[in-house]
Formats: sequence, C-alpha cells, structure tokens
Amino acid sequence: MNQRDETSRPASLAGSLLGPVDVRALADQLGIRPTKTLGQNFVIDPNTIRRIVNSARIGPGETVLEVGPGLGSLTLGLLDAAERVIAVEIDPVLAAKLPETAAAWRGDGASRLDVIQADALKLTTLPAPPTAVVANLPYNVAVPVVLNLLAAFDSLQHGLVMVQEEVADRLAAKPGSKIYGVPSVKAAWYADVRKAGVVGRNVFWPAPTIASGLVSLSRREPPETTAGRQEVFAVIDAAFAQRRKTLRAALAAWAGSGAAAEEALVNAGIDPKSRGEVIDVAGFARIAEHRPRSVSGRNPAGSHE
Ligand code: SAM
Repeated sequence: MNQRDETSRPASLAGSLLGPVDVRALADQLGIRPTKTLGQNFVIDPNTIRRIVNSARIGPGETVLEVGPGLGSLTLGLLDAAERVIAVEIDPVLAAKLPETAAAWRGDGASRLDVIQADALKLTTLPAPPTAVVANLPYNVAVPVVLNLLAAFDSLQHGLVMVQEEVADRLAAKPGSKIYGVPSVKAAWYADVRKAGVVGRNVFWPAPTIASGLVSLSRREPPETTAGRQEVFAVIDAAFAQRRKTLRAALAAWAGSGAAAEEALVNAGIDPKSRGEVIDVAGFARIAEHRPRSVSGRNPAGSHE
C-alpha cells in the first residue's frame, strides 16, 4: 500500500495513486465521514486500482464513465489509461473536490476529466459518448445503475465494475443456476457478463462487511425479436416474481389466465412446466412475442419499444 507522506508532493505524484494516508487526509480536509446510505467505501490500495484498470482493458482513445468517483482513488488510475474520464458523483462535497485532487495528482492530465454532480440512476446525457464504464459502484444501487447505463448509453461497449461479491455472482449467473434471476437476464439483454475476480474487504476504508467482486461486461446485440425491451423485461419480472412456480402459473396474470400463459409458452417453444431459472434471455424474448394480443395490445406486424 502507498504510505507516502505529504512532503513528497508534488514532484513524485505523477502516476502515483491514493493510499490509506491520502484517502484519510482528503476525507479530513473535507470534514466528511463516509456514509452507508451512499455506499461510500473508498479504495485505499493502489494495487487494487491497478488491477481494476488493467482488467478494464481500456483501449486508445476511449472515454471512460466512472460512477461514484468518491475521493478519486480510481479516477486517478483511469486518467492514466483513458483519453477522457467522465466522473458522475452524487455527493456535492466529493464532486466539488475531485477536479482539485486530479489537478494536484495529475497536473495537466486533469483537463481530461469532467466531473458531473448527479445521480447515476437518472443520467440521460453526458458531455461525450462514453465507450466504457469502470466503477467501484455504490453497492445499494449497483444493479439498477448498471442496467440504466447500458440502456441510456448505446455507445458503451464494455465495462468493469466492482460490486458486492454476491451481486457479481448474480449478474454473471447463467440459466440453470440457483442464483440466476432478474439481474442476470436483464444484464444478458445488453452484454456478455462474466465475473472477473474477488476483492477482499481490507482494501477499503471503511472496510465493508463482505467481499466484493469484479464484473466484466462486453456489449452484444440483444436477441433478435419483434418484442420491445420493455415487453421482454415485463415477462422476466413476472417469471421471477414467483420463481418457485412453473412458468404457466407465474405468467398467468401477465397472459390473462393460466391457459393463455400455457398457450404463449407452447407457441414460444417452452415447456409450460419449466421455471424461469432455466430460460435464457432469447427464450424470454420469444415468450414476450407470444403474449396474447388481448392483454398486450401489440401490433402483430412489427416491433416497438
Ligand atoms: N470510486 C471511489 C473509490 O473507489 O474509492 C468511491 C467508491 S464508493 C463505493 C461509491 C461512490 O458512489 C461514493 O462516492 C458515493 O458518494 C457515490 N454514489 C452513491 N450513490 C450514487 C449515485 N446514485 N450516483 C452517483 N454516485 C453515487
């Protein structure tokens, strides 16, 4: 870990990363205490930052979106690898300090950083189209943030995010696994998702109660379907709302009746007695296409969002 003392600044700062002393000093300067509500666990270990940045495989010319830069631990690592970094932070005190930290640690490199104070759950526009998302996500909103970003920014081609290990497992789960569920299928609509490693608790301040996991995302085309994304996501939500039930039972309300659900499933080539946990995203898309017209109001001729 980086235990550099304050007296080495600024000459030795180029390329160096925040260590535990730096993170504490920045927090003290700002008079902040990390809050659980905002999932504020700051990385204090430069090796973890290097590992995240290397695993993210950022190519030349990339614009990286970082959600929740906090005190800047990961932001500094990203500035060394990316052409441009757009950092979105909800906490106004942290957002206001970040450009200053970047300038102190990266000098002119800080001109390649945009800091936006905003809620990542509500983001719809950014100053430039991001090609990658790399983030140590606030744990309580990690899944909706990932799904919102993939939906809102088509330009995102890949990503590497740190989340709670259990959430990493869920996001990367494949059909047939006990933990395969709504996050797994919805993420698979947008991307190939894979767990890229485990991160221990002690690289954070304050240390969280459980381990973290790295998740790698690689954008892919959604399954070919005449159903819109919202229609497919509605089937997924219905199927997993009662995950122990057969799809025939779980989708009865969605289809209008058990018999109608059975018909839609048979028409989609899916056994009505199967459960949602064995169906891949393409299967859910086929089911959505066969929702009875009386409840879906779908135009049989074409697709719509
Ligand atoms: N990236 C920093 C690091 O690795 O040390 C901090 C990561 S910390 C786990 C999560 C950060 O996300 C905090 O700075 C928190 O204030 C911020 N945050 C929480 N909710 C957010 C939201 N909805 N939108 C944007 N930032 C958020």
